[in-house]
Amino acid sequence: MNCDIRIGNGYDVHRLAPGLTLTLGGVTIPHDKGCVAHSDGDVIIHALCDALLGTLALGDIGHHFPDTSDEFKGIDSKILLRRTYDMIQSRGYSLVNADITLLLQAPKIAPYVPQMRSALASVLEVPVECISVKATTTERLGFTGREEGVEAYAAVLLCKD
Ligand code: MG
Repeated sequence: MNCDIRIGNGYDVHRLAPGLTLTLGGVTIPHDKGCVAHSDGDVIIHALCDALLGTLALGDIGHHFPDTSDEFKGIDSKILLRRTYDMIQSRGYSLVNADITLLLQAPKIAPYVPQMRSALASVLEVPVECISVKATTTERLGFTGREEGVEAYAAVLLCKD
């Protein structure tokens, strides 16, 4: 049996500040704060990109899309995700599934989860069942609980084509 599978995990955090746009999982969410970032600050996508890169030991998102480059200033992170997955596919691998956990005190994310899953699935051209997005608060503990930041973890599994 061909069992050429690879696993990866990723983590990202961004600071929150008033008056900025909050984009998570490719979805813009109405809120009084958004992520401070060189790109659009989408922690879900950044964690997912790092998890994908980790599967094949391709380095990290900062290596491929440096925040010192004007090319990536304000960029839609969906473009970074697509480019990351292109690197994976060009090496003969495909996504089996991705599981993402978002840590955020506010606002409530549940209503946006279906949109996030379909946005990510559409960028990766995989069935929506392959993408899991979960969210939790941190019970008001730590910087996330104080609404100073937002965090995301991602785990992915790849299979050789
Ligand atoms: Mg980031």
